[in-house]
Formats: sequence, structure tokens, C-alpha cells
Amino acid sequence: MELLCLDLEGVLIPEIWINFAEKTGIEELRATTRDIPDYDELMRMRLRILDEHGYGLPDIQAVIDTLDPLDGAREFVDWAREHFQLIILSDTFYEFAKPLMKKLGWPTLFCHRLEVDENGRITDYKLRQQDPKRMSIKSFHSLNYHCIAAGDSYNDTTMLSEAEQGILFHAPDNVIAEFPQFPAVHSYDDLKKEIAKASPRSIPL
Ligand SMILES: [Mg+2]
Repeated sequence: MELLCLDLEGVLIPEIWINFAEKTGIEELRATTRDIPDYDELMRMRLRILDEHGYGLPDIQAVIDTLDPLDGAREFVDWAREHFQLIILSDTFYEFAKPLMKKLGWPTLFCHRLEVDENGRITDYKLRQQDPKRMSIKSFHSLNYHCIAAGDSYNDTTMLSEAEQGILFHAPDNVIAEFPQFPAVHSYDDLKKEIAKASPRSIPL
């Protein structure tokens, strides 16, 4: 049996921080790991800006509640779970992802968590481990699972390299150009075809 490992933001749901930046008009919160490659530096900046504007977890959750999975994502997840063991490997936080995971039918999610005080202020964040996407695939291999993985960005590329087959989905042109070893697709139909191709079994599309 193969595991299918998917990134979350940009693959199944919209980018949470970018949507929060749009709803609040705080431009600096649009920054991603493409602008500030050091994830710790990026998160410290985000938490400082939230503090400066007096925003806490309930404010972010209120925005996330208004978001929906990408068009076709729920149907894609249902297909994936029928034919594979699906695990979402994400750099988001459980406290953010919950409303969207509900809309996706509660697939298994491995991500990080936030520390929040009694007033809803986000005081810290806890990464589960370093390089968690790659480490997850390594661990699944130790359990004798064949892994197919798909993601859209730089933080997915170690996972894509570690898997038997990595696939870029919805990736920007610079990522596609830098990682030509991975097939790059832009629709769920094409993603299904690449996943089926990577499986030793015959998978109905
Ligand atoms: Mg992503």
C-alpha cells in the first residue's frame, strides 16, 4: 500500500497568512518563506505584528472560518482517501487548520501547534521537529510504506525528493524551473493522473 502525502496550503486550501493580510490590510503579513527564508525569523515577525495590532488567535480563526478549500479540493481528497492512505504534511498550525480540515472531511494532518494565553494572544509557536516533511517521509519508509508526495513550494521540496515520486502542484514558475526533476501539474485531474502513474497498482481516475 502506498501513502499519499500532500502539502495543505496552496494545494488544498488558500494561503492562510495571505488571506489574513488581505482581510486586515496589514501588508507585512503577506511575506512568506519566499521573502524571508528563515522560518523562525518569519514567524517571530508575524507574532510581533499581530501583537502590535492587537490581533489574537480568535481574530485569525474568524478569518479562517470564512475561507473555503480550493475548488475541487474536497472531491480530490475523497478520491485520494478511497485509493490511498492520505496524510497531510503541513507547516501550518492545528489551531489554524481546524475549520478547513472540517470542510475537507477531517483527513489526517501532521503539522505544528501554537501557544496561546487566556486572552487569545499567541505567545509562541512549537515546531514538531526540524525538516518535518522530509522526516515524516523517512519515518514512513521505516514502516515500509511507498510514498507519493505533492506540494507547491520550496518547503515541500525535501519531502518530494525523499518520496519515491514527488509531484509539483500549483507551483510558481521559479520553483518549477529550479526542480525540473519533478513533474509539474496545475489541475486536480492532472494531479490524479501523475499520482496514478506513480502507483504500482492500477488506480481508477
Ligand atoms: Mg504550500
